[in-house]
Amino acid sequence: MEEIPPDHPRAESLIIRKRLALAFQQGIVVPEGLAAHGRGEAFDYLLGERTIPPAISAAKAGIALMLLAEKSVISVNGNAAALVPAELVELAKLTRSELEVNLFHPSKEREQKIARLLVESGANQVLGIEPEYETTIPELSSARRKVDRRGIAQADVVLVPLEDGDRTEALKRMGKKVIAIDLNPLSRTSLSADVTIVDNIVRALPLMCKLARELPKDKEYLQEIVRAFNNKENLSQCLRTIVRRLEELAGGSHLSQEPSR
Ligand code: ATP
Ligand code: MG
Repeated sequence: MEEIPPDHPRAESLIIRKRLALAFQQGIVVPEGLAAHGRGEAFDYLLGERTIPPAISAAKAGIALMLLAEKSVISVNGNAAALVPAELVELAKLTRSELEVNLFHPSKEREQKIARLLVESGANQVLGIEPEYETTIPELSSARRKVDRRGIAQADVVLVPLEDGDRTEALKRMGKKVIAIDLNPLSRTSLSADVTIVDNIVRALPLMCKLARELPKDKEYLQEIVRAFNNKENLSQCLRTIVRRLEELAGGSHLSQEPSR
């Protein structure tokens, strides 16, 4: 990563891209994952590349759901593993969740590489990689419906960072509570999840770990957080935040400034 100058105005974003590019070379991320990241980046730009207040509320509701769950599972794909491996492992430990490798573009080799990365980051067990435990999500085309019978198949709560809309809807039809992390408040994933955290996974995961550590573990308190949360209302606040910011930028001095590069 040395070649990215730390004083570059977009250093953080460039470091994340570099990390994904390296993970692509290692066979952890697929080319489609790089394109999906680009869509996320565009929304992050509109949000001001920061965690907005509605995302903090959603992260609280998501952690409350995970702490209250009978069995919660964190679904891990290539991009998530490349960007926040240690935080995924930490969140699993803090919330007593399973980690399950679950890929939109499945391949045995990539599953093994992602599982190895999670183990190197401290995971004790990684589901989704042993064929004898394979079962299927109904109503999804064959390659994309594989899940672990010890994990997502029996979970009541599933965290899906960067998931596809079809699969989120299928998990909902199976009666699961779904928590999504998705920078795009308009995606089908965002609209169909029970709790959508509109934030970059690189900020959302550390925030969720902090909340999992700090939120009181009182059941009624956690249930009240879940009851008070309304995902549609939260998504609408996320969109309003973007609209307000764009209005300010459109009317302000921003447009008369010289570009910094
Ligand atoms: P959907 O299938 O839900 O309608 P989509 O087809 O537009 O969404 P996918 O490619 O299926 O998008 O899923 C990738 C999603 O992940 C995108 O909505 C993108 O905004 C989001 N995303 C990409 N990178 C990040 C990131 N680092 N943090 C959070 N979200 C991200
Ligand atoms: Mg999609």
